[in-house]
Amino acid sequence: MNDTTKPRCKTDFRLPTYQDRGQGTEPCVRCGAPITHRTAQRWVHMVEGGGALLHPDDEALYQSGDGDMYWFPIGADCARSIGLEWSIVLEKEPHERHDETPL
Ligand SMILES: [Zn+2]
Repeated sequence: MNDTTKPRCKTDFRLPTYQDRGQGTEPCVRCGAPITHRTAQRWVHMVEGGGALLHPDDEALYQSGDGDMYWFPIGADCARSIGLEWSIVLEKEPHERHDETPL
């Protein structure tokens, strides 16, 4: 198996102190803090049932399956902490958020 054909995934993105504080909206995937403004929001593609993030550059290598959780918001500071290359910026919520890649 050649690893270059596999999409890069990140499994250590969630803080041990993660606590869902979204208060009815989806919280930041890393820390659980509420995300208040939805403009120019960063998004991550969560896979493996929520256990990993898919690298946006490797979308073409990823075969969607049961573990595909699609797109979730991440706070700006958290996006920086895990590496900005792991998230994409969209001005508004992905149009086909739970169906396809919003690119
Ligand atoms: Zn966060």
